[in-house]
Amino acid sequence: MPRVFVAGSFNVDHVWRVATLPSPGATLSGSYATGPGGKGFNQAVAARRAGADTRFVCALGLDAGAQLARALCDADGIDLHAATADAPTGTAGIYVDAQGRNCIVIGPGANAALDAEFVAHALAGVAAGDVVLAQLESPLDAVARALDAGRAAGATVLLNPAPANVAIDETMLVRADVLTPNETEFAALLLRHVGERIDADAVGNLDQQRLHALCRELLPHGSVVVTLGASGCFVSHADAEPRGDTATFYRVAAEPAQAIDTTGAGDAFNGALAASLAQRPERAFIEHVRFAGRFAARSTEQAGAALAMPHLVVE
Ligand code: AMP
Repeated sequence: MPRVFVAGSFNVDHVWRVATLPSPGATLSGSYATGPGGKGFNQAVAARRAGADTRFVCALGLDAGAQLARALCDADGIDLHAATADAPTGTAGIYVDAQGRNCIVIGPGANAALDAEFVAHALAGVAAGDVVLAQLESPLDAVARALDAGRAAGATVLLNPAPANVAIDETMLVRADVLTPNETEFAALLLRHVGERIDADAVGNLDQQRLHALCRELLPHGSVVVTLGASGCFVSHADAEPRGDTATFYRVAAEPAQAIDTTGAGDAFNGALAASLAQRPERAFIEHVRFAGRFAARSTEQAGAALAMPHLVVE
């Protein structure tokens, strides 16, 4: 059975809804909620709920957060390979104001201790036809080992270069078959790797030919999917490699949604894209992207990230 291997972070999110974001010295009160998060975990839940056999590789502490991760993976049928770190399980403190603006502090904790050797071991069984998916909330040597394990086995390697503030070098980029930045991450990558300064808000309005040329400079050999929130996404393939598509570049509109919370939409998209690629390799790439868009749209109709992932399987 083709499988999805996700290497990445697990966090316990603590979310306070406040009227205004706190300023230095302020004490505020607000409504509080807690729940699971972390890009790695969110994407693993998405891949699993999209129907793929999914292994999630991460590092956890020895605390209630780790128990939560184990219980959630059990409940969803995710094959958890967790290293035990001498640090608290990752946490995120999130304030959201009345306008939906947020302030986030992440305590990487155990995530910062995800070890490259552990990742290589957990991915030892990866095979051709599988999909390996990683993000940048883990130590970069561990991310690199996950991508290398996928490449060596002939699996499809997806790199979601998020969050945008983590700088990676050329050697990391070239490990990816498919790169999936959002507008902000795409703008950051262009500045660092192509020397082009483009405002994140302007990415979706760029001429498609120009966007394609920029994607080609960024990742000459692979496919780039730039996600554009409610505007859908832009896909660019290497000219010699249209991946079953008839065009080397195109836009895909977002699926209509009654969006109430877009947190985790990108994670939903990535997990579902990985699941679709693993389960229906005969399909044209555009079909995988359309499925990922449908899955992500449904995820925006529920509050939260991991727990808002729909049960919408690849058919
Ligand atoms: P983002 O990470 O915000 O670019 O979102 C990733 C993907 O989720 C997009 O490419 C869309 O397919 C989907 N998406 C995000 N926001 C919405 C929305 N408001 N309505 C429908 N789909 C959305």
